[in-house]
Amino acid sequence: MKDCIFCKIAKKEEKAEIIHENDNLIVFKDIKPKAPIHYLIVPKKHIKSINELKEENKGLIGEMVLTAKKIAGKVGIKDSGYKLIFNVGRGGGQIVDHLHLHVLGGWKKSS
Ligand SMILES: [Zn+2]
Repeated sequence: MKDCIFCKIAKKEEKAEIIHENDNLIVFKDIKPKAPIHYLIVPKKHIKSINELKEENKGLIGEMVLTAKKIAGKVGIKDSGYKLIFNVGRGGGQIVDHLHLHVLGGWKKSS
């Protein structure tokens, strides 16, 4: 979609710190991290939000969650723990209208 920042990142028209990519997804660092480790898992296909998901997107969502697990392992937060968040709509804190899954972690353990 034109003027969509995540579509532009997927097409390499905008820069991002990409750590994983395949035909369906792209994973990059959040530019305004809310945690010591904060990545976004973004489908290359433009879907506005969870509200626009269809039955046919089941596989894509599954792949997003499995990719989150893979990324957590890669960046070393798999064992310490992490959060996976889908913000939906403005009231749900969604800022970019292109479906994305937040992977947050890396907080120091409280003793
Ligand atoms: Zn988009």
